[in-house]
Amino acid sequence: MLVFAKIKSIQQKIKELPKGTSIGFVPTMGALHKGHLSLIERAKRENDIVVVSIFVNPTQFDKQEDLINYPKTIDSDLSLLKSVFCDIVFTPTAQEIYANSIVSTSFNFDGLEHQMEGKFRTGHFDGVGTIVKKLFEIVTPTKAYFGEKDFQQLQIIKKMVEKNHLHVKIIPCDIFREEDGLAMSSRNTRLTNEHRSAAPFIYKTLKEAKIKFGTENALDVIQWVENEFKKHPLFELEYFEIADEDTLLTIKNKNKQQKYRAFLAVFAGNIRLIDNISL
Ligand code: AMP
Repeated sequence: MLVFAKIKSIQQKIKELPKGTSIGFVPTMGALHKGHLSLIERAKRENDIVVVSIFVNPTQFDKQEDLINYPKTIDSDLSLLKSVFCDIVFTPTAQEIYANSIVSTSFNFDGLEHQMEGKFRTGHFDGVGTIVKKLFEIVTPTKAYFGEKDFQQLQIIKKMVEKNHLHVKIIPCDIFREEDGLAMSSRNTRLTNEHRSAAPFIYKTLKEAKIKFGTENALDVIQWVENEFKKHPLFELEYFEIADEDTLLTIKNKNKQQKYRAFLAVFAGNIRLIDNISL
């Protein structure tokens, strides 16, 4: 496994690959877990080589405190990557990526950026768009793998690729969960024992909402979920929304032709968790 921290070095290596080598790319912020590995294993199966980037991107954090506290576990990340036969790891510094100007480009994602996470995390998707575009330019992937855990991010990346005519195929990957249902996340390690033990409540509520959505109208389901969280002593719901999968616009009237998904963000103490389910 080759590890590069410099743009020039990874680009040189990629230039030397035999013509036609397919590159599967998995961008991450490190603190790797089995959810990340499921993307990498899939990329490995579907491409000649796999490149993983580890970069905690400062421009996508709206709260400095969250950036500082984001878990950084580079040694164990590298051994996990070796264990799944990752070929190339890219671990740049912020200086390498942004030089002396740590700012985002402004993007227009046709409104996708104004929904859900966009309402609560100012500038987050400009930061995501900026880093993913830069990484795509450096790595020149054939296919890039993104988890449905961050469903809005996945749709935004697809939009960016389409609008900029980038030559990369975006592959959505299923949400990987703990056995008790909690969606795997690098942030889970920062939960208190009490919050961690109670956390299966989140997915359990989403699954019940899905069942209710089969027979009840969306407003009733939304109210039911909000109420379940109000009753819970440990979690504070930031939002729960039912939206069209493609436009991410909030549901108005249920329409059989459309595909819907339920999305939520919840605070467990000061740790913010997100999850979603296809309805
Ligand atoms: P992150 O390191 O959190 O930026 O995540 C890197 C990639 O892994 C993103 O495409 C995420 O959506 C994906 N990912 C993170 N957690 C999961 C999970 N539990 N299941 C599937 N994909 C995930």
